[in-house]
Amino acid sequence: MEIKMDLEPFFPEDVPLNRPVVISGPCSAESESQMLETAMALSDIGVKIFRAGIWKPRTRPNSFEGFGTDALPWLNTVREKTGMYTSTEVANVKHVYDALKFGVDILWIGARTSANPFAVQEIADALKGVDIPVMVKNPVNPDLELWIGALERLYHAGIRRLAAGHRGFSSSEKSEYRNNPQWQLPIELKRRIPNMPLINDPSHICGARERLLEVSQKAMDLNFDGLIIETHPNPDKAMSDAKQQITPAQLQELLAKLIIRNPEATINQKPSLEELRAEIDKLDDSILEIFEKRMNIIDKIGLYKKENNISILQNKRWDEILNRRIDMGQKKGLSEVFVSDLFKAIHQESINRQTKVMNG
Ligand code: PEP
Ligand code: MN
Repeated sequence: MEIKMDLEPFFPEDVPLNRPVVISGPCSAESESQMLETAMALSDIGVKIFRAGIWKPRTRPNSFEGFGTDALPWLNTVREKTGMYTSTEVANVKHVYDALKFGVDILWIGARTSANPFAVQEIADALKGVDIPVMVKNPVNPDLELWIGALERLYHAGIRRLAAGHRGFSSSEKSEYRNNPQWQLPIELKRRIPNMPLINDPSHICGARERLLEVSQKAMDLNFDGLIIETHPNPDKAMSDAKQQITPAQLQELLAKLIIRNPEATINQKPSLEELRAEIDKLDDSILEIFEKRMNIIDKIGLYKKENNISILQNKRWDEILNRRIDMGQKKGLSEVFVSDLFKAIHQESINRQTKVMNG
């Protein structure tokens, strides 16, 4: 069901809303000169919002954890010298008070914090009565309700300038990404809260600068409003997230390569989008009819197994099914991940059906 939120613009009024609105700056504030050098170069290429981590949540202790409150005046230097808006991550109430005291313009809640409702609630309570834009990054775990819940906690505290930050999700499975994007989650978030701005964070999704363009392009093709991308004057020497940072000049190149397509389909061309979509609708109907038939046979097999006292799962048979489908899919140009995920879902539903027939 759609969630109604009476939101106000997330981006400051004088920031042009041409997609993508870019937020950029180093992963971490390392020194006043590093911040200023980055900010001047970013401002020269038209970036209006600066980011820098003041407090850095790190996986293990004894690694660089940010300069903390001592680094907040550096953000003010950036604002004074470049006119850029400043943004940083807050993870607890002290961070909120310190950031507000120093006049930080935009706050974000990091992935580790948005996974924790207690922490988000405390931050929301600390922000009651404050008019400041807050971006809520997705929680580390792929839980849409938790992400929406964090946004709601801020909304209920009176924050109206909200945005959802998509930085990908941790996964125990081997992945080509540092954080798996699982694009269907931000897409579903947008379906549930249609007026929520979406900002993609290709830096933390990729973990490697080589793939930033591809992920940024995909975000644009999924109609994201903005991008938050980490930049550093000397990325390889960065004190955190060195592999994924790029120079402001590289950011300029990346932005120039992005193709920004129209979110609305209005062009008249044959076959029209409507005609192509009608074909898709028909095919989807047939897919569902085939699934219906398949599940009817599954029920019959369930009955057979029940009568003959055979367990639901035969590992060898399942292994054969999966391998054969993957092979066949590859011949038809369907990716292994897709076919494998699809048949795992079908198999799971088949098991559920048979469980019902046999034990229900
Ligand atoms: C960051 O933006 O620097 C950061 C730590 O991000 P995340 O919370 O997404 O890991
Ligand atoms: Mn980072």
